[in-house]
Amino acid sequence: MTEDTKTRKIAAIKGTKDILPQEARKWQKVETVAREIFERYGYREIRSPIFEATELFKKGTGETSDIVIKEMYSFKDKAGRSLTLRPEYTPSVVRAIIEHRLYLQPQPLRFYFIGPMFRYDKPQKGRYRQFHQIDIEVFDEKDPAIDAEIVEMADHLLKTLKVTGTETFVNSVGCRKCRPAYHKELRNHADKARKLLCVECQRKIDTNPLRIFDCKISGCQEVSQRFPKITDFICHECEEHFRKFCAYLDLFNIKYRLEPRLVRGIDYYTKTTFEVITPALGAQDAILGGGRYDDMMKVFGGPDMCGIGFAVGMERLVSLVPFENEETQSIYIAYLGDLAKELAMDVAKELRHEGIECLVEYRKRTLRNLMSRANKLGAKWVLIIGEDEVKTGRYQLKDMMTGEQKTVKRELILKTLKESS
Ligand code: AMP
Repeated sequence: MTEDTKTRKIAAIKGTKDILPQEARKWQKVETVAREIFERYGYREIRSPIFEATELFKKGTGETSDIVIKEMYSFKDKAGRSLTLRPEYTPSVVRAIIEHRLYLQPQPLRFYFIGPMFRYDKPQKGRYRQFHQIDIEVFDEKDPAIDAEIVEMADHLLKTLKVTGTETFVNSVGCRKCRPAYHKELRNHADKARKLLCVECQRKIDTNPLRIFDCKISGCQEVSQRFPKITDFICHECEEHFRKFCAYLDLFNIKYRLEPRLVRGIDYYTKTTFEVITPALGAQDAILGGGRYDDMMKVFGGPDMCGIGFAVGMERLVSLVPFENEETQSIYIAYLGDLAKELAMDVAKELRHEGIECLVEYRKRTLRNLMSRANKLGAKWVLIIGEDEVKTGRYQLKDMMTGEQKTVKRELILKTLKESS
């Protein structure tokens, strides 16, 4: 190892980022609100491993999806198995349901999940290689009321977090009965326009022409605008499902726009797809997206159980939540001298056990320094323990907001804090 490599700083991997304490508070808040709301709608948390057999995503996410073709973090473990850091959550939940026979539980099953995902895409603002999703999934509910209910739940989450200026797009991508005819028609149109499409889209004509609608290149988008719309091809059952879904959205007073080209980047969707976007995010404008996947459980050898869900991008959501500097209720203990230090440690222990956030620092400082530290740390109160206080057993308690200071006996500190909080 050269001197240079020894001293070179190791930085975070491109496309990943640290969530520093102040931002982490915001994340915690968003996660808490999401949990509370989802639990109110009957969802329960499920946690699954971060890596899975590569096969799971090839089969679930789909061989022709961008994720499987070029974005997976796959590697061989020491035993030579091909593993993949999960790029999305749905296949893992489906696997867990089959593995633990959760389908034997009363249905519909409602699950939520919060955790990191990994996709090897070009990093840019709002697009990371490790990012986080809040995900919800419902199984065994065919009724389009549930499609509308989850869109309403997403809307509820955004409203509670004070995220405004969003738009909701909805579509139906048909089912395995009606989609083949549309695929054929789309392929014919795309083939005629082949020369106008990018190399990637030309490949999609043969593999999965629906994916052309995901292309971000403006030339391809312009061309695909003229392709036939899936909604003109869907069967009666899908049409009825979509009609009722939209009617229930109206019932919930959710504003939405029909977007016949909303096919979403994953292969498994059937019938409903939806996305919530906001121009406030810039180029990567989707906050959340989801849809129905009625065939996935069967594909994995499970029961014939339909599914629907959505995933929210945490980085994007957190960036939209207005910053609220929440007032802390903490107390800083400023002590002077060794005897006072022991008392401070003892009082701190007592207060912490009573549920009060309490800070004691062990570096020697003057009283002036201590007060300024307390101020910097945003403490609501400071408890001053000096030599006199040690002798008399009466401490100075200062309210940092009002500047008011009073003398309190040790046994009354807790009571005084509770009364004034
Ligand atoms: P998807 O799983 O692709 O349907 O994405 C669902 C949501 O996850 C999107 O609406 C984004 O908010 C978020 N998301 C997807 N990919 C990324 C990424 N690479 N970086 C950050 N957020 C992402």
